[in-house]
Amino acid sequence: MNVWGKIIVLVGILFLPFAARGEVSKEEDFVWAQRGLIAEIKDTMPPIDVDDRRVNSSLLRQAKLNAIKGLFQVTERIYQVRGIDLANLSIVVGEKGYIVIDPLSSADTARAAIDLVYEKLGRKPISAVIYSHSHVDHWGGVLGIVERGSCPVIAPVGFMREVVRENILAGNAMARRASYMYGIYLPSGPSGWIDNGLGKSLPAKMKVGLIAPSQEIKKTGEELTIDGVKMVFQLTYGVEAPSNMHIFFPQLRALYLADSCVASLHNFLTPRGAQVRDASAWANHLEEAWTLFGHQTDVIFLGHTWPRWGKENIFNMIKKQADAYRYIHDQTLRLINQGYTIADVGELVKLPPELDREWFNRPYYATVGWNARAVYQYYLGWFDGNPIHLNPLPPREAALKYVSYMGGSDKIMDRARKELEEGHHRWVAEVMYHVVTAEPENDAARRLLAEALERMGFREESAVFRNFYLSGAYELRYGIQEREEKRRPPIEIIRALSLHHIFEAMAIRLNGPRAAGKKMKINWVLTDTGEKVALVLENGVLHHYPGKIEEDAECTLKMTRDIFDRLIAGETTPALQFLLGRISWDGKLRKFWEFMDLFDEFNPSFSLMIPPGR
Ligand SMILES: [Zn+2]
Repeated sequence: MNVWGKIIVLVGILFLPFAARGEVSKEEDFVWAQRGLIAEIKDTMPPIDVDDRRVNSSLLRQAKLNAIKGLFQVTERIYQVRGIDLANLSIVVGEKGYIVIDPLSSADTARAAIDLVYEKLGRKPISAVIYSHSHVDHWGGVLGIVERGSCPVIAPVGFMREVVRENILAGNAMARRASYMYGIYLPSGPSGWIDNGLGKSLPAKMKVGLIAPSQEIKKTGEELTIDGVKMVFQLTYGVEAPSNMHIFFPQLRALYLADSCVASLHNFLTPRGAQVRDASAWANHLEEAWTLFGHQTDVIFLGHTWPRWGKENIFNMIKKQADAYRYIHDQTLRLINQGYTIADVGELVKLPPELDREWFNRPYYATVGWNARAVYQYYLGWFDGNPIHLNPLPPREAALKYVSYMGGSDKIMDRARKELEEGHHRWVAEVMYHVVTAEPENDAARRLLAEALERMGFREESAVFRNFYLSGAYELRYGIQEREEKRRPPIEIIRALSLHHIFEAMAIRLNGPRAAGKKMKINWVLTDTGEKVALVLENGVLHHYPGKIEEDAECTLKMTRDIFDRLIAGETTPALQFLLGRISWDGKLRKFWEFMDLFDEFNPSFSLMIPPGR
């Protein structure tokens, strides 16, 4: 090949992916994101210059798409409110009222969404609420739309169990990590938060509530007709959420795929923390959705991002997103079986061009490398088989040694500053992590680490990675904003829980070392609902036995369910309720006080940047 031939090939290779991504799909996504607009909600963020070096241009494109907000018609009788919360609220118009699918994360945003529906489409009763899965952005706003007991609430099997596990048992830590993931404390704009990849934003103050489902969907193929609307369900357990389903509307030729298919690469493990997801099952369920319903589907609408119309477009997205997930799954396992570690697979797995160039497979939410590491975790866990990692020193002890072996923090920082200018951001962040962990009070070290993180954040195509990097940098520079919020699950969730779930959550607040050696039995009786539970403390463990009373308990407490819920939520104190005569007791009250003294309160503002010392 002559020189010109080589140049033409080279130019072709360089520009091909941009041409394929930039010209054709870009138009389609913007057309789809605006299609059916009935009422626009103006985005409040000032426009960002495409040449701004603090924002990745591909991420900026996604941020613009997510900023197209308002009420949209998806197809005959199906509407969506998009852009006012992280997720979409969907409405199906029945014969007499509205069926609401996935009522957002907070009562305020959900109410704003339904008010917009009432204003533009007319006020009608709510005939049912459907939760597609157990993540809070798809149910937390339900009380902004309906009252408890006012309509059927339908969810996939196992919904309540997963809600408790994700949002309550590890809830305090997940909420703290989610504040980084969604850039909750970042100023908005090109040097801070601009988007969340999967959707625009989470409400800054979430008013989360829950109504327990009145009916569960137990298997694929189950059918329901509500208010004249026929629905066929596909149970997709273990996909994006452990309790999860898709809904097909045969009369409307429309398929709701929840979060299984969205206009971004999704995550196999959410960085806020949760149980790792099954990538192979995810791909299988997407393929099954196409097999079951594809030939009768004219539009797919989703839990996040905009719908997609036309058989070919729908097939292309379902097929290529399923294949992206399967590719990451299979290739990670191929490398694992050749001896590569969790860090290696994160570097080595890359999508092939035919999958990578599709905008919906771009890493706005999770990256390919992150998902490869999640596959490693799913199959092998965090341990890499190297005995060095069986029982390593904790971070603070190790950091003190690293810094001392490397000649002290001043020497490390001199070199790190040079390397930062040379573009070695990841390495500088790693080495400065040890310095800041060893010397948390060293301001110059904190600023240098912050700078490395900011440079990483500004380049990121993933909104989530960007938010994490910039949130860490922000707190290193300005400290942690102490949160006023309560440290307990809100009462609007507790009211929906059984005593079993409530005491399961209470048991994880028991301070084991303080409780060690103690034996106690306390009965709780709820006078209006007839519920009762015996608590037995022994071996540093709190056991609960719903429906039982221990005859030889030290103390038996009696109160209404309402007082009980308020005590558990921390909205009132036992002392005040004793004083008001709303709690009565048999036995030794002293024992009850001794018991209550054994529980920790969680700090919602713990540090993510500096590990606790010992
Ligand atoms: Zn979601």
